[in-house]
Amino acid sequence: MKYLDEFRDPDIARKILGEIRRVTTRPWVIMEICGGQTHSIIKNGIHQLLPDEIELVHGPGCPVCVTPLELIDRAVAIASKPGVIFTSFGDMLRVPGSRKDLFMVKSEGGDVRVVYSPLDAVKLARDNPDRHVVFFAVGFETTAPNNAMAVWQAHREGLDNFSVLVSHVLVPPAMSALLSSPNNRVQGYLAAGHVCTIMGWEEYEPIVEQFRVPVVVTGFEPVDILEGVLMVVTQLEQGISRVENQYSRAVRREGNMPARDLIRRVFEISDRKWRGIGSIPMSGFKLRAEFAAHDAELLFDAGAIQVDEPEICISGLVLQGLKKPYECPAFGKECTPMTPLGATMVSTEGACAAYHSYHRHQLVPDVTS
Ligand code: SF4
Repeated sequence: MKYLDEFRDPDIARKILGEIRRVTTRPWVIMEICGGQTHSIIKNGIHQLLPDEIELVHGPGCPVCVTPLELIDRAVAIASKPGVIFTSFGDMLRVPGSRKDLFMVKSEGGDVRVVYSPLDAVKLARDNPDRHVVFFAVGFETTAPNNAMAVWQAHREGLDNFSVLVSHVLVPPAMSALLSSPNNRVQGYLAAGHVCTIMGWEEYEPIVEQFRVPVVVTGFEPVDILEGVLMVVTQLEQGISRVENQYSRAVRREGNMPARDLIRRVFEISDRKWRGIGSIPMSGFKLRAEFAAHDAELLFDAGAIQVDEPEICISGLVLQGLKKPYECPAFGKECTPMTPLGATMVSTEGACAAYHSYHRHQLVPDVTS
């Protein structure tokens, strides 16, 4: 297949669904890692088309969702300082911190700006030498090359008024952590295609080796996801586990080597806290020591801010595939996209927002009355 339409073709989808039905003999739990895939699954009703034996659970692959509460509070504290231009992608502005979000800082007079690339933030620093520009560097491996490039560029130009607040997380350690949990239900993974365009899929081989679960690198269109499910179920039914690549039109085993090289030069692997999940060893990036002059957390002494998650929100369980959004008592009541209590409702890629947007009427009849 060469054209986008083909990856949305109902006849092709029907054929793959028939094949999934044919090979499925037992119940299986499969996790899609990526919030973009979750969104596509719920939007297209894929979870409802699959045989009853196959349960899709939604993983922690939404960068906005897993950014810890204290990082939002640190962003709020830095953005509130005089002389700072705080920049971020738009979706981070609405993520609630423990007391306020970045929109509130902006409404109170803080200079908070939405940018479309971290290099736009570098340009702002270049154009405003009397101000300090901070970029909120959030994301998985997908956004790491651009963020690394921004730091590299600022460093090369000697822009000492540019820094990044880093909250980078890595997918493979989270997959291992979920599989190591005594509560784990995941038997196979759909790995996030866009992460693999950068990092390749060789990182998943040790996971398959250790945990004996199939991992299929999967794209985002309905036919991609159905093919990914078919490939995982086929492995499960045959009692085998290996890494397979459904998204071969975009992903190579070794990934994008220049991008990986740039990431390695600017970042080093570190422990990271995930919102709702907790700390996962070696699951994130931090700036290398030679770039400390561009580390906003150090420059603004914001690292000490620590806070607890609100008790009502069960997004941690949602992100681990242990609960569905509509099982949260607050879903569609106290918590809606207009009044989000947790990041999985704020982010457009969040599982709670996806269910709320596309399926709450079928799944939670009482909230529609
Ligand atoms: S519905 Fe709201 S409160 Fe419940 S888990 Fe989702 S984000 Fe948290």
